[in-house]
Amino acid sequence: MFHISDCKKYNRCHRMFVLDQTQEKLPYHSFIRIDEKIADLAAQKLGIKEYFLGEKNDPPERAMEALKDHEWLSRARFEYGGLRIKVPFLHRVKDGYDLYFLFNGLYPKAEDMQFYCDTVWVLDKLGIKINEYYVIHLNADYVRGKQLDPGGLFIVTRHFYNAKNNPTILIKDAIRRNMREISGMLRDMELLSEENMPEPYRTSRCAGRSRCRFYDQCFPDEATIPVNSILTLTGAKSRYDMLQEGLMNLKDADIARIEGSRIQYAEIMADRLGGLFADKTALAAWFRDMSYPITFLDFEWECFAVPPYEGMKPYMVLPFEYSIHIMEEDGTIRNQVFLSVHDDRKEMAESLVRDIPKNGTVIAYNAEGAEKLRIQELADRYEEYREDLLSINERMKDLQMPFTSGLVYDVRMSGVWTLKKIMSLMGDRSYQDLDIHHGMEAVFQWRYLDREDESADLEKIARELKEYCGMDSYAMTVIFRWLRSLAE
Ligand code: SF4
Repeated sequence: MFHISDCKKYNRCHRMFVLDQTQEKLPYHSFIRIDEKIADLAAQKLGIKEYFLGEKNDPPERAMEALKDHEWLSRARFEYGGLRIKVPFLHRVKDGYDLYFLFNGLYPKAEDMQFYCDTVWVLDKLGIKINEYYVIHLNADYVRGKQLDPGGLFIVTRHFYNAKNNPTILIKDAIRRNMREISGMLRDMELLSEENMPEPYRTSRCAGRSRCRFYDQCFPDEATIPVNSILTLTGAKSRYDMLQEGLMNLKDADIARIEGSRIQYAEIMADRLGGLFADKTALAAWFRDMSYPITFLDFEWECFAVPPYEGMKPYMVLPFEYSIHIMEEDGTIRNQVFLSVHDDRKEMAESLVRDIPKNGTVIAYNAEGAEKLRIQELADRYEEYREDLLSINERMKDLQMPFTSGLVYDVRMSGVWTLKKIMSLMGDRSYQDLDIHHGMEAVFQWRYLDREDESADLEKIARELKEYCGMDSYAMTVIFRWLRSLAE
């Protein structure tokens, strides 16, 4: 018996489908936190009081029976031709049923048509006539009051949204236009097994927007490529072709066939110059308008699909920790960490204003995409700290800029310029010495604190979170000094 997620994997890559079927499932940690049962809230939005509720291992006859004497069905399990589906809501109307899909995001798009069409395929085959199609999704404009209001939290739509998040094609039309017969595909899926597993074949699906979890298994040679391999040339579509033609290293890149970004230039030059490239003039200019004391700032935050606190919108983030290292002109450094549990945004805003010096440069890594946003959100919420918080943003510079703009490249970065990667080249403290190694692990651990889950050692977690966030702002001081030495 297959589920729609199996069909998606099969269509993405036949080999991925087999590996997923045959290998141990990894524990799933969602990057987005959803504490509430979204389907229960959506039922409130729809005003449903009485309904049949499907369950995980229901035999398929149970939902078919329920059709006879329930006006509403929620999470009912149906099966046909070896495919099992879960239908969020079905509502009996005059000419058949209205079907409600449930989308946990903000703007359902017509991209995931296979999911919608395969669901309708099963219902069609079972003779369940669908009259109208809806998607219930989270409302981007909803601002939570003291209580959560399912009426405002969701939007019920008959349309998909386009790239600009405007309603576009009718869901009904999009599904009917894309419907196809899938019984042949389901039979082919049955025939695939470990014995006749397809060979790995590299496509954009292997390491595109999200890297396939089987990548290292499929292409084990890449785990041991030299740091200056042509495969580390950032964003070069022709890198695998060049490798096959014997252009093995960055310095061999065929300039006529690459995109010509500044990062690529830095990567190629680094290899030609023996491993390191630094545009000293541009770097010196980047340092020119900085002034002491320099504050290195790093935040950690959680992202909630359903806003847990007053004033928050769906998918708004909740900052729960920051660390600062303050560097004086004589080289002395001091560190402070603020760690909160639940919602301490006001105390955090107050603490930031108190702890960050009123003058001097503030530095963050990926400032535009993270720290500046967090500060702006706090400034928007707390009028009394607004001016001081915005002053922090005005003085903020992005330490990632010299790397993303191709001012500096060390071939040992292998096309990666995260704080952790660069720090690993510095011969200083290492993230590997910490119990928490990366940002998402920090979030997963903070969830124990926030839920007051006593099955974990909460004091230890608090200590480790402070060490991890402190390491991020410390790493910035080390990288800052390295860049400054290159500029000099
Ligand atoms: S890495 Fe590529 S070939 Fe291997 S399973 Fe994933 S998508 Fe398929």
